[in-house]
Order: sequence, then structure tokens, then C-alpha cells
Amino acid sequence: AGSLTVSELAAKLHREASELIKKLMGLGVMATINQELDRDAIELLATDYGVAVEDAVFIDELDIDIYDETDKEEDLQERPPVVTIMGHVDHGKTTLLDSIRNTKVTANEAGGITQHIGAYQISQAGKKITFLDTPGHAAFTTMRARGAQVTDITILVVAADDGVMPQTKEAISHAKDAGVPIIVAVNKIDKEAANPDRVMQELTEYELVPEAWGGDTIFVNVSALQGDGIDELMEMILLVSEVEELKANPNKLATGTVVEAQLDKGRGPVATLLVQNGTLSVGDAVVVGNTFGRVRALVNDLGRREQTAGPSTPVEITGLNDVPQAGDRFQAFKDEKKARQVGEGLMARYREQNLSESSKVSLDDLFNQI
Ligand code: GDP
Ligand code: MG
Repeated sequence: AGSLTVSELAAKLHREASELIKKLMGLGVMATINQELDRDAIELLATDYGVAVEDAVFIDELDIDIYDETDKEEDLQERPPVVTIMGHVDHGKTTLLDSIRNTKVTANEAGGITQHIGAYQISQAGKKITFLDTPGHAAFTTMRARGAQVTDITILVVAADDGVMPQTKEAISHAKDAGVPIIVAVNKIDKEAANPDRVMQELTEYELVPEAWGGDTIFVNVSALQGDGIDELMEMILLVSEVEELKANPNKLATGTVVEAQLDKGRGPVATLLVQNGTLSVGDAVVVGNTFGRVRALVNDLGRREQTAGPSTPVEITGLNDVPQAGDRFQAFKDEKKARQVGEGLMARYREQNLSESSKVSLDDLFNQI
């Protein structure tokens, strides 16, 4: 049975070996460039790059046939940015999320009843923006610990009457580690004690320097409570997302990440998925973490039933055999038989590995990667 070294796998994936080593390190695996990787590690890395490892779950020998599913440039289309709001407690994250949603969603989608599914989408100047309303820090720490990167842009909320606080610093380091651009929303400017200049001054120490001072960080003064500055903030998000050239291929089977999931008494397991590439459709067979099933219904953030959900769209699905976890990866398959095979293969592996706890990669990390 063959195997691959880090550098061989890197070559197959068209990536730098150092990048793979870094990813493995993030999963608690110390690897060198010539180290042979086991099947789990290969799958883990390949899946993370959106590359399918053919029948990997069932192949006992290690000569895995990796086929490159990297999208061709001509198949890529612009997709909405996925935005996470972070900042110190009480600086106004929830108020800002609510304010954006209330001013943007209800104005654009008359008749829609907002559903709290952990994420929502708004329209700004004809373009969509997706917001994750799971607590930003949790989204970053749990999802990123599993190798899932869901955020394109971070809004760092800093209260103008309070300034940089411990969780502000934490948020900055999370965003920087993930390489996610930061837009600073200086909040509560309606307050008498507001001092936005001081916030700017304090943030220069963290290399967040406003454009007016020769830096390249966008600062927007807002009052989440009164709705001031929201439009400008949305425009800045679109500006940054244009620079980032966010793209995906809507014309293939969907992959993405679980935003949240729970068991509903009437509907069974319900999961909010963020489609990151491809398009998810009603009837698709899916493997979600170590659960599987067929998409029975797709419901958007306004509670409306949809037939499909394209890149960057958050959507609630039913039809899974069990409840997955936030941060789990999902993948759609052509047919249910395949999804069931993969799902059951994962379950079997899960049981097996639960008995032998030799793997250094955590089980969650492994089984949530298909
Ligand atoms: P979070 O902990 O970051 O989610 O903060 P919240 O959104 O819960 O806000 C904390 C408190 O600050 C609440 O009492 C809000 O009403 C208040 N608040 C949030 N944004 C503003 C604002 O723009 N102006 C004022 N005056 N108060 C705000
Ligand atoms: Mg809050």
C-alpha cells in the first residue's frame, strides 16, 4: 500500500508544502516535508482544499487517486461576501446585527418574516452580503479549529466611549491569524462620551491605521442603536469584497459548512448550512459531518422555501438522519446511495476510532471533513 509524503501531496494539490505543514500544525499534527501522511491526514487536507479523494473512505490501501476539483477560472462567478461581527462584550455587536437586518431586510423583502437561523443575507445596491450572526468569537474558534474558514470580512465593533478592550484585541488576532480583512465600526458615536479619535489612536498600535492617517484600514463611525452609518458600512463591505475578488462556481454540487444545527420536535434534525461553493438543491444527497440524508426542504432566512441555494447563501435544511455540529463540513453527492455509503463509512470509522484513540488528529477534525 502506497502513501504520500507532505511534499508529494502538496504537489498533487498545487500548494506549497509549508502551507500544508501549517494546516497540519493547526490540527495538532507536527509534520515535516518528507513525512508520510496517513489516509486520514491526506483526506483531511485534500477535502480542505475542495479536492475529492476518490472513494477514500472505502479504499483500504493507500494509493489514493486524487482528482483535482479546483475550479477553472472560466467557471468562477462573483459571490457575496460572508461577514462576521466581532468585538468586546457590550460594544454593540448584537445591536449592529439587528440594526443591519432591520433596516436592510425588511426594507428590501416586504412580507418576509425574519427567521433566526444563525445567518442572514441583505441587499445593498443590488448586491448581496451574508452575515453570520453566530457569536463571532465562537464562530472563529470552533470553526477554524476544524479547519473551516467561513468568513471573508470581519467587522470589528469598538465602542467609541470605551475603546480597545481585551476581546477587541482577541478579535484582531483571530482575524489576523485567519488572514481576514478587518473593517472597524466605531460604534455608539451618539453617546456624549464618544471619542472616535481615541479609538483610532488606540488601534494604530495593532496595525489598524485609518486611511486618513496613511494606513489602509477602513473605519466607519456608526450608531447601531440609531441606525447611523449603516449604509456607509455596507458600502465599505462591498468595496473590500470587490478588492478580495470573492468567487465560486455555482454550477456544481455544493460544499460548505454547518453554521448551527438542532433537533426540532416536528421536523427532526435541522441544520443551517452556509453554501461555500456549488449550488445546493432540494433532493440532493448530502453528507454533513458524520450525518447524511437527502435535502427534504431548503428554507431561507426569511422563512421562505427555496429550490436551490448558491454560493455564500445560508439556508436551513431538513432531511438528515442526525444532528450535525456547527463547523462541520458538508458535501452534496449525485445520488443518495453514494451519500449513504460515505455517511455509513464515516460512522463506522467513527466507532472504530472511538475505540482506539491513537490518532493525534482529533476525531471531530477527522470526521467533520468530508
Ligand atoms: P454586544 O455584547 O456586543 O452584543 O452588545 P449589545 O449589542 O448587546 O449592546 C450592549 C449595550 O449597548 C446595549 O444596551 C445596547 O443598547 C447598547 N448600544 C449598542 N449600540 C449602541 C449605540 O450605537 N449607541 C448607544 N447609545 N448604545 C448602544
Ligand atoms: Mg451580543
